[in-house]
Amino acid sequence: MILASRHSWARLVAAIAFTIACMNVHVDAKQAPKKKQKTTAVKSSAKKSKPAAKTTAKPADKAPPKEAQPDSSVVKIDANDPKAFTKAILLDKQGVEFEVVGEEKQPAPKLVVKEKKKEDFFDFSTMLVPITHPAPIASKYGIRDHRLHRGVDVSVIKDEPVLAAFPGVVTMAKYNKGGYGHYVIVDHENGLQTLYGHLSERLVKIGERVYPGDIVGLAGNSGRSSGAHLHFEIHYGEINIDPETIVDFPNWDLKPGVEKVSKKSIVRAHYNMQRKLKKEGTYVVKKGDTQGKVAKWFNISIEALCRINNLKPGAPLKAGQKLLGSK
Ligand SMILES: [Zn+2]
Repeated sequence: MILASRHSWARLVAAIAFTIACMNVHVDAKQAPKKKQKTTAVKSSAKKSKPAAKTTAKPADKAPPKEAQPDSSVVKIDANDPKAFTKAILLDKQGVEFEVVGEEKQPAPKLVVKEKKKEDFFDFSTMLVPITHPAPIASKYGIRDHRLHRGVDVSVIKDEPVLAAFPGVVTMAKYNKGGYGHYVIVDHENGLQTLYGHLSERLVKIGERVYPGDIVGLAGNSGRSSGAHLHFEIHYGEINIDPETIVDFPNWDLKPGVEKVSKKSIVRAHYNMQRKLKKEGTYVVKKGDTQGKVAKWFNISIEALCRINNLKPGAPLKAGQKLLGSK
């Protein structure tokens, strides 16, 4: 007869869980009920393999207190013994009574939880291009004036509608005098973000849900711009994506194969560009340099230089100091 109390059975179940973990049983984190099922399944199969234990074990509520049964023939299994479960199974097969004793010093290891593998590519095939007619690129993505131009500039007709590329939620809609002018950022469900800059007017608000084809604003010449154009960026979090990877300009056609663009290749391209930027876009301060001079080298405002490099406006620069014009 098995004298294992409810408490020690709980330990056995923990040991079973440990065994499962060792057998690399992976349970989807998002499917908590499955985790329970797994444990239960092993528990019940263990019971099936030892019907004697099942039939002879006394219900816990009817079992007399442990102290009342001092029986030296009962084999004690230390709950801290990593082989506790194996020993219990063997003893049970042999028909030997056993009891699991002792408190576990450490909580039983949890089941190894492995997240479902995320997709390692982007599907851009459902992207709707923000401009509905052929529009040549006026300035490409890449390093320009020692800093990174994070998107493409496309020539547009002033006040023409600019459309959302994917469904999503507007996370930014504001005016930036020295940079993007009126601009909008949309956070998409596929993990991407798109930015539409130099608009003459914003037609969405932060928090607003947009669908492909919704007008986020009108194209324009606001901010740091010298002619009507749309500055269009695609991001994947901190990763900048060259829109020309996806779109064939000037026709705004999607390139072949965009339904499966490797995330790895996108991330690699981003870091290659960052390396290039570090080489070509770092200004090493010389004696006598001013914030104005360095800002001019980067073709940005002093305010932008200070913001990017955490400088106090007007503060003197130190020789040898390294400054950036973009991040
Ligand atoms: Zn631009």
